[in-house]
Amino acid sequence: MILIDGKKAAAELRAELKEEVAELKSKHNKVPGLTVILIGDLTPSQIYVRNKEKSANEVGLKSEVIKYPDSIEEKTVLEKIQELNSDETVSGILVQLPLPKHIDKQKVIEAIDPSKDVDGFHPMNVGNLSSGYESSIPCTPLGCYLLIKKIEPNLSGKKAVVVGRSNLNGKPMTQLLLKENCTVTITHSKTKDLKAECLEADIIVAAVGIPELVRGDWVKKDAIVIDVGINKTDNGIVGDVHFDEVSKNAKALTPVPGGVGPMTIACLLKNTIDCFKRSQI
Ligand code: NAP
Repeated sequence: MILIDGKKAAAELRAELKEEVAELKSKHNKVPGLTVILIGDLTPSQIYVRNKEKSANEVGLKSEVIKYPDSIEEKTVLEKIQELNSDETVSGILVQLPLPKHIDKQKVIEAIDPSKDVDGFHPMNVGNLSSGYESSIPCTPLGCYLLIKKIEPNLSGKKAVVVGRSNLNGKPMTQLLLKENCTVTITHSKTKDLKAECLEADIIVAAVGIPELVRGDWVKKDAIVIDVGINKTDNGIVGDVHFDEVSKNAKALTPVPGGVGPMTIACLLKNTIDCFKRSQI
């Protein structure tokens, strides 16, 4: 079984991006800029944002974090986004989710200029991705896609099962696999027989949020299994895939932690650089 090392893949991607940033700097005399807006003091969000800032600095991006207290008015956030939209030094804008209840998430997402939407959540980018046009692609599914391609460069005709249909993970993942000519089944909480669906799959991407949902006897021999889940349990952090069982059947499997997670941040940097490049054309 191939243990898909997301840490190593992310480090390789960051090294490539660092070179690319240096080339862009010498060509344009400026570097791509990432601005993250962090609202409130939720510890996981603070950790994510700190890691994003650290990684952005490591590859040579200009990075900025704007912090607001929980009580900040929605209007102030929307005005800041407008300001960042027209700031030429800002290539990518990310508003760290979740947001406090009084702030409308969709309004915030839609306020971001689609050409600076490094999360790929703006409806314009969602539509472009599903139409097969160039777009920002949500970072986690993009990371999953890059890991799958490392194991199997030609996905044409493969059967893929995506478990979970969130806008963040399942839906964009489905689009990426479709684009590669996979035959994709997207499953969710109302799917009748999830085990039977998974048993058909050459590729399984599990993005559910249920600890160890995908069991060893759900996975056909030689399947590639990508585990997006991050679940806190009494036994520590586990994924949506039962690692010990599935590793006996699968051809390749991502661990949790150390699989998809590190790729998510590396893909955010990639998206920022891609936004910058598109803005220079
Ligand atoms: P989400 O928005 O809660 O969506 C979960 C999806 O799973 C929904 O579509 C739901 O179906 C489906 N589902 C629930 N129970 C199911 C069942 N028994 N069988 C089949 N499908 C079922 O979750 P998310 O934001 O996509 O996150 C999923 C997991 O990924 C979480 O553990 C999260 O922490 C993790 N995550 C990891 C990263 C990373 O960087 N590695 C990034 C983001 C999220 P319905 O639509 O029918 O409700």
